Amino acid sequence: MPDQLSAAPIQQTPNTLMPSTIVSKCQNSPHVRLLGYFFVTLHPQSKKLCHMDTIKIKDLTFQLSITEQQIQQRIQEIGRQIHRDFAGKDPIFLVVLNGAFMFASDLLKEVEIPCQVSFIRLSSYVGTQSTGEVKEIMGINTPLEQRHVIIVEDIVDTGVTMKNMWALLSDHKPASIHLASLLVKPKNLKVNVNVDYTGFNIGNDFIVGYGLDYDGYGRNERNIYVLKS
Ligand code: 5GP
Ligand code: MG
Repeated sequence: MPDQLSAAPIQQTPNTLMPSTIVSKCQNSPHVRLLGYFFVTLHPQSKKLCHMDTIKIKDLTFQLSITEQQIQQRIQEIGRQIHRDFAGKDPIFLVVLNGAFMFASDLLKEVEIPCQVSFIRLSSYVGTQSTGEVKEIMGINTPLEQRHVIIVEDIVDTGVTMKNMWALLSDHKPASIHLASLLVKPKNLKVNVNVDYTGFNIGNDFIVGYGLDYDGYGRNERNIYVLKS
C-alpha cells in the first residue's frame, strides 16, 4: 500500500512562479517593483510578495536593514559552528521567548547533532524602551544540572536580560553556559556579557522583524527593519 502521508515534491513549471522567483523578479525589474509598490499600497496584506524598503507598524515607519537572505546565510554559518563545537556533548538549547522563536527555529535546523530544546520567557521592554527590569514570565522547567546549555536570544541590547539569565541559570548548576544571539548592540552594552555566537552587530536604533516586535506587531516579518528617524 502506498504511503498516503509521503509528501510529493513541489514541481516548478515555467508558468508557475514560486514566491522566491517573484521576489527576485521584483528586485530585478524596476517596472515590477513599481507595480509591486502600488499593489502593496492598495493591498497591505500582499507585502510578502516583495522586499519592502519601508514598512509601517502602528504609528512608526521602519526601513529595511537586514534582508531575509543575509539572515539565513549567517544563521547557517552559526548553526554549523555550533554543530561542530557541541558534537558529542548532548547540548540543551534554551530559547528566550518571544523574540527568539524565529531565530531558534532556523538555527536548530542547522544543528544536526542530538540535542534538546526548552523555552523561557522574560520581558524587559515596553514599546521601544527597555525598562531595565527583567520579569520572568515563564521559568525554566527542565533539569539543567551538568548539561551544556546554549541560550538562544534575539538581541543583546543593554545586556541586563542576559546578565540576569546567567545568574538564574547558574543556580541550576549546568556544565557550561553559552550564548547565541542573532543581534548585538555593542555600543549600548551596560554590563559585561559574553556572546559566543553573534549573528550581526548593529547600531543602537530600535529594530523589528524576524521575531522582534513593536508593541506585539512585526514579529512575522522575514527581514529586519530599523526605526526611521
Ligand atoms: P537588554 O536587557 O539586553 O537591554 O534587552 C534585551 C531584550 O530587549 C531583547 O531580548 C529584546 O527582546 C528587547 N530588545 C532590545 N533591543 C530591541 C530592539 O531594538 N527591538 C526590539 N523589538 N526589541 C529589543
Ligand atoms: Mg529577547
